[in-house]
Amino acid sequence: MDTVWVLGDQLNRRISSLHDSSPAETRILFVESAAKMATKPFHRQRLHLVITAMRRFASELAAAGFEVDYRKAANFTAGLAEHRAEFRPDRVSVMEPMSYQMLNRFAELEVELVRSNQFLCHYKDFAIWAADRKRLVMEDFYRMQRQRLGYLMDGSEPAGGTWNFDALNRERPPRDGRSWPAPIRSRLDDVDREVIAALPASAVGADPDGTWATSRRAALFRLRHFIDEVLPIFGPHEDAMLAGEWRMAHSLLSPYLNLGLLHPREVCDAAEAAYRDGRVPIAAAEGFIRQVIGWREYVWGTYWLWMPDYAHGNALGARRPLPPLFRSTDTAMRCVRTALQAVAEHGYAHHIQRLMVLANFAMLSGVVPQEMVEWMAASFVDGAEWVMLPNVLGMGLYADGGMMATKPYAAGGNYINRMSDYCGECRFDPKSRVGPEACPFTTLYWAFLDGNRAHLTGNHRMARQLRAMQRLGDLDDVRRRAAELFADIDAGTL
Ligand code: SF4
Repeated sequence: MDTVWVLGDQLNRRISSLHDSSPAETRILFVESAAKMATKPFHRQRLHLVITAMRRFASELAAAGFEVDYRKAANFTAGLAEHRAEFRPDRVSVMEPMSYQMLNRFAELEVELVRSNQFLCHYKDFAIWAADRKRLVMEDFYRMQRQRLGYLMDGSEPAGGTWNFDALNRERPPRDGRSWPAPIRSRLDDVDREVIAALPASAVGADPDGTWATSRRAALFRLRHFIDEVLPIFGPHEDAMLAGEWRMAHSLLSPYLNLGLLHPREVCDAAEAAYRDGRVPIAAAEGFIRQVIGWREYVWGTYWLWMPDYAHGNALGARRPLPPLFRSTDTAMRCVRTALQAVAEHGYAHHIQRLMVLANFAMLSGVVPQEMVEWMAASFVDGAEWVMLPNVLGMGLYADGGMMATKPYAAGGNYINRMSDYCGECRFDPKSRVGPEACPFTTLYWAFLDGNRAHLTGNHRMARQLRAMQRLGDLDDVRRRAAELFADIDAGTL
């Protein structure tokens, strides 16, 4: 009898290693690795989500007639060895893993790799696409995906007459007190409670409250809710931030896509159908589908294209260890505190909080990119190395020197003030760059340009900002204030 080993981010009956398998010929192996859980101080909701979803999927397969060996082991190697010793399978196969490190480990474990079908563009096909180009541009990849997959196409033309409606999706936060769709919550059951009770002491963050779906059925329910109730208003305020709204109109579907509970094709099919039925505007459908078949698959492809060297990037020579405030919510900066509270309570912050508040702060403070990647990968319910390296190290911290982004996504307090309601009740002033009331983002933004001018000179997209920095009459005061802030950041007193 053969064994199919199902990993914790492959939780779907239709994965390529499983879809042709029958209970008569195939035994299923799951391994819960204690070593994996101990690699980082993971968020409690992340660990709960992955472990509970694994156990539920194992139960579903058992109910479908499969013999399931669900093994708790010291590590993956030990789990496989114990399985082999007990069952002596003719062969063990596993779908290609999502991490470079796991792929290398499988080469040593003598398991048969099955080509992954969890993305719409396999990373080897991405490499073929990339090989023809002088420069990789996400928009080019996205259009290729649209044409190839047929999403939002009217014949050979893009639906709505244009490929990209992003210009409509950058509105400031609405200040009309509107209510946003509340996230669905499931009632916790005995499986949840058992997993929560056994979470390691190293885990951080609030306990699960049912926000995150731990089965395919519950994930499909959340997909329907998103399409019906949220997608129609998704879009215009995608880049906005509101203190009282951790979700706004974000889909909250990324953890399910990353664990296999949902497949990108079915979520895009649902968005396309809603647009074709007249239930959602084109800008909303296009913006969402672009995130899934464009950005998400582009990040996946670049991860495999650039690993393993990519993980070591530190183009700006950042040296600061992860500041203590990332391990608490204790900071006077309201924007950072709000984002960290969302992470602590839900294991989640939406993309603009991640990019323009948390990663921006880390870059302006000179945090070692690998420490920031590690923190984000552990703290978010949708964290995974393949997601976090290009997004955080590349896009957020510019540590790849411009492979993902053509310029650093550095911004001062004015940007955050324009795109959020945070600053009004913050003790700092987003317009000031010196003095005790000065917004740390504003001070550090100018200090960042000053400190990295040698590296950034020659990047035409930074020329205007560098000229503005050089014209500042109080640059010495900015440097002094930045030094005070760095001392506060290191001491955990900012
Ligand atoms: Fe953040 Fe500065 Fe605004 Fe305070 S004033 S919320 S620190 S951007």
